[in-house]
Amino acid sequence: MSTSFGEENLWELESPLYRDALAQLDRVAGVIGLDENIHARLRVPQRATVVSFPFRREGYYEVSTVFAYRVQHVLTMGPTKGGIRYAPDVNLGEVAALAMLMTWKTALVGLPFGGAKGGVRVDPIGLTRPEIQRLTRRYTAELINVIGPETDIPAPDMGTNEQVMAWIMDTYSQHVGHATPGVVTGKPPALGGSIARREATGRGLVSLIPAAAAHTGVDLDLARVVVHGFGNVGQYAALAAHELGMKVVAVSDITGGVYNEHGLDIPKVQEWVEENGNLENLPDVEFVTNEELFALDCEILIPAAVGGVITAKNASDIKAKIIAEGANGPTTVDADEILADKAIFVIPDILANAGGVTVSYFEWVQDLQNYFWSEGEIVARLREIMGRAFEEVLNISINEGYDMRTAALIKGIRRVADAKLVRGVYP
Ligand code: NAD
Repeated sequence: MSTSFGEENLWELESPLYRDALAQLDRVAGVIGLDENIHARLRVPQRATVVSFPFRREGYYEVSTVFAYRVQHVLTMGPTKGGIRYAPDVNLGEVAALAMLMTWKTALVGLPFGGAKGGVRVDPIGLTRPEIQRLTRRYTAELINVIGPETDIPAPDMGTNEQVMAWIMDTYSQHVGHATPGVVTGKPPALGGSIARREATGRGLVSLIPAAAAHTGVDLDLARVVVHGFGNVGQYAALAAHELGMKVVAVSDITGGVYNEHGLDIPKVQEWVEENGNLENLPDVEFVTNEELFALDCEILIPAAVGGVITAKNASDIKAKIIAEGANGPTTVDADEILADKAIFVIPDILANAGGVTVSYFEWVQDLQNYFWSEGEIVARLREIMGRAFEEVLNISINEGYDMRTAALIKGIRRVADAKLVRGVYP
């Protein structure tokens, strides 16, 4: 009897990102001759929790009810790991796709985790801090039997931050009766959070650019950088590129983009956003739309906001020679083909943004051992892991003749498949 999950069984997970994640898995399964039972197993998440819950708004009697999710894709490799996002369009399919990407990412960089992801369908921009705190505590309470330092360890993602992680850690600790810092990563250092975690994703991504530039013949002294999204990932990627001497000519957030052909002073832009909340009205710049941003003249493009932004519609306008994907799933499958035809070198999401989960892994290890490392040790180990993963993926790409995304997926999926094969089927 066939056990594979056909399309007819997947309607609950329907979303553009899930379709693309499946298309990538199916393609790579064919390329590496993946065992068909393992392929079928990997197409669906192992566990998915869907909850709805109320939280009090500012007026005590006003209550909003929201949907929320936690999906654990693969439990074979160790505890599961992945961020939590608060966004108005979060849905089960999107969270399941992001959990799958986390599985490949952690396997690719050799961390002892399977992939997970969580999210609450809510627009955090419209919420006050006390509202976000109540929402976070209730969400954590709903997941109390799902998460834990040995089972599933959340981290920040879009719309969440260190403070949200602190509330999750506190709520979980109150429930189990003792302080449990290892239940989340991306916490403030005062609670056992790792120094350098906040910068890790952007910094890790930029650490790969010199090798990518050497491979593609881009002169870094003359390189212009464009960054889409100026949150955690985008801000620290822009800062790291600026500190390396590259000219960051444009950045954007949900309100639009800012451009200066002579380069933006990134620490000043950060200060502005810290004070004003967004990039609107920033002085000494030209304003561009987020659509125009993708077509700007540059050598390096860093999508670092939402998924599905590089599409068949805008891919042919992109002028960059290198795309380093800070966001998860920023490029659609159709767009990938256009980028390949244009010989644009793509550092795919599961490689480019793996610095976040890598330093999260360091944080979890430090919490479990109650022994904390210096910033120098953390940054050096991050660079080593990222650099090695990049080299391995580039070697697969060159030696086996695949684009970088396929090469990265081959490495990640092979590792998970090997582990699944030796563990076998229970019972
Ligand atoms: P964030 O919430 O800190 O920042 C998101 C940024 O994107 C903000 O500047 C926001 O204004 C902007 N934005 C949102 N919607 C937009 C739109 N439609 N158009 C243009 N800009 C938009 O989120 P983050 O943590 O920086 O995450 C960004 C991306 O990176 C996500 O795809 C996330 O999954 C991925 N990622 C994050 C981490 C991490 O450590 N935080 C790690 C790996 C991957």
